[in-house]
Amino acid sequence: MQILDGIAVSAHIKSQIKQETEKLKAEKGKTPHLAAILVGHNPASEAYVGNKVRTCEELGFGSTLLRFEESVTEAQLLEEIKKLNGDNKIDGILVQLPLPEHISDNAVINAIDPGKDVDGFHPITQGKMLLGQPSFLPATPYGILLMLEHYNINTAGMHCVVIGRSNIVGTPMTVLMSRNAQPGNATVTICHSKTKDLAAITKTADIIIAAIGRPRFVTADMVKEGAIVIDVGINRIDDATRKSGSRLVGDVDYDNVAPKCSYITPVPKGVGPMTICGLMKNTLEAAKEHV
Ligand code: NDP
Repeated sequence: MQILDGIAVSAHIKSQIKQETEKLKAEKGKTPHLAAILVGHNPASEAYVGNKVRTCEELGFGSTLLRFEESVTEAQLLEEIKKLNGDNKIDGILVQLPLPEHISDNAVINAIDPGKDVDGFHPITQGKMLLGQPSFLPATPYGILLMLEHYNINTAGMHCVVIGRSNIVGTPMTVLMSRNAQPGNATVTICHSKTKDLAAITKTADIIIAAIGRPRFVTADMVKEGAIVIDVGINRIDDATRKSGSRLVGDVDYDNVAPKCSYITPVPKGVGPMTICGLMKNTLEAAKEHV
């Protein structure tokens, strides 16, 4: 069993991004710049955005963090996005989800200039991806592809079972794993909460990609010997042995599943750091387009 090490792979990719950024600055006088919008004080969102801003600094990108109270209106957010769309300094715009109930995710995402949609959530971006046209790829699925590529895992002909069908992870993941590319060329099955006898399906999988949001949901009896398991889930559970009283676990019962796998991502330090790499690679590409 080999651990797919998100920290090591992301360090490698970040050093490449850093070099390319220095070159872009020296040759074209352009510094990639990411704008992040954070609404409210959700601790997980605060942590994710803080991480993204710190990574910008590490890579030599500029960054702008726009914070709003929970009470911000949809119209105010749309106005801010309009300003960012028109600001030549800004290459990428990300809106940290979830947004408060009174704000429509769709309205906000649809307002982002697709040329600055570095999270890859805009319908034009996803439409292009679906049609195989050049586009930003949604950050988490992109990060997973970068991980598979880094370890030279040839996915052609494999049966890939994706559990979860969200617009930001599960659904784009199925598109990318089934396209005629490497990584890709897999035969893909998409599962969700209405899937009957999920375990019978996952047991036939050469690759399982779990994006469910349920702690340790994928158990050893659901996984065949030698499978590759990619765990997207980030779930906080109580843990009295920790100072904080809690810890993070994935959607996979790691301790019992790992011994059966050929490769597996841990949580944390698996897909999480790769998602940031996907976002940063998209921002660099956007900056190159904005020279
Ligand atoms: P969503 O809640 O949007 O989607 C979850 C999916 O899981 C849904 O399609 C749902 O099915 C399915 N599901 C729920 N229960 C079951 C079940 N019992 N059996 C089968 N399928 C089920 O979540 P996201 O896709 O946004 O995120 C998934 C997880 O990944 C979360 O833990 C999130 O925190 C994490 N995440 C991690 C990232 C990273 O960088 N590592 C980035 C993004 C997310 P249905 O559609 O039928 O409701």
